[in-house]
Amino acid sequence: MNLILLGAPGAGKGTQAKMIAQRYHLPHISTGDIFRENIRKETEIGLLAKSYIDKGQLVPDEVTCAIVKDRLTWDDCKNGCLLDGFPRNLYQAEELDKFAKIDGVVNINIDFKLLMDRLCGRRVCKECGESYHVSTLNGQTTCHCGGELYQRKDDNPETVKSRLDVYSAQTAPLIDYYTKKGVILNFTGTEAPAEVLFEEVKKVLDEKFGK
Ligand code: AMP
Repeated sequence: MNLILLGAPGAGKGTQAKMIAQRYHLPHISTGDIFRENIRKETEIGLLAKSYIDKGQLVPDEVTCAIVKDRLTWDDCKNGCLLDGFPRNLYQAEELDKFAKIDGVVNINIDFKLLMDRLCGRRVCKECGESYHVSTLNGQTTCHCGGELYQRKDDNPETVKSRLDVYSAQTAPLIDYYTKKGVILNFTGTEAPAEVLFEEVKKVLDEKFGK
C-alpha cells in the first residue's frame, strides 16, 4: 500500500509518519529529511536545496521528483511506502501518478493559529528525529534516546510564515485533487498528544486496508 501524509508544516506529519510506518511496515520517505541529510553531507543536491529551504520555498520540482522516483525503486518499497512531505504541489502529484499508485492520503487539518508557536518552539533530536516543544523541555537539551536537540534553521518566524504561505497556495489544493480521486482520509490535528490522533488514524487505516 502506498500512502501519502498531507498537512501544513507543524501539523504533526513526521510524528504520525513514524507511528504509521512502524505499524504497517512501510518505509518512511520524507523529502525534507532527504534534503536535510544532503545538506549535512554537503552534496550537490544539498547545496541547491539549502538555498530554497532557508527561504521557506519549495526545492525545484525536477530535483524533488527525481529523488522520489529513484527512492521508490529501492527494494524496501516493493510492498509500498509512506510519503511524508511529497507531493507538495499539483505538478508533483501528477508526476507521482506516473510512477506510483496511491491507495490512501492521510490528511491532517489543523488550525493555522497553532502552527507558528509549534514550529518556532520546536526542537528536534539529531539522532532519532523526535520532536519536542521547548515549553515542555525545562531546559533539557537531549532526547530520551540521548541525542542532542537542535532547532531547525527554517523554524524561525519569517521562514515559517513563508512555508505556511507556500502550503496554502501550492499544497492545500492537493486535498481537492485526492478527494476527487476518492483516496483522501481526513483527520483533525489538535494540541492533544500525537498518540490520540494516531489511534484515529490507525482505526481508519485498519478498517480500510487491514493491518
Ligand atoms: P519538511 O521537513 O517536510 O517541512 O520540509 C522542509 C523543506 O524542504 C520545505 O520547506 C521545502 O523547502 C523542502 N521540501 C520538502 N519536501 C519538498 C517537496 N516535496 N518539494 C519541494 N520542496 C520540498
